[in-house]
Amino acid sequence: MTSIDSGPVVSSQLRPILDYFGKCPACGYPAEAALLTTGFIDGTITRRVVATCGLPCGWSDHVAPAPMTDAFRR
Ligand SMILES: [Zn+2]
Repeated sequence: MTSIDSGPVVSSQLRPILDYFGKCPACGYPAEAALLTTGFIDGTITRRVVATCGLPCGWSDHVAPAPMTDAFRR
């Protein structure tokens, strides 16, 4: 249920995550993160967290989003 091959992208939105406290694995500087929400033509919506180094060392990566309601499932 996490397919990202859902056809053409019809919308995308990038929102900064202000309470992200990850660090750049390359240089150790605090990283910045943004939530990338992408909507596909078939109605699928994916959310990915994109982290970027606060220094221009060039590092950026997708990271696991913060656990939400699934954390309460048994
Ligand atoms: Zn870095």
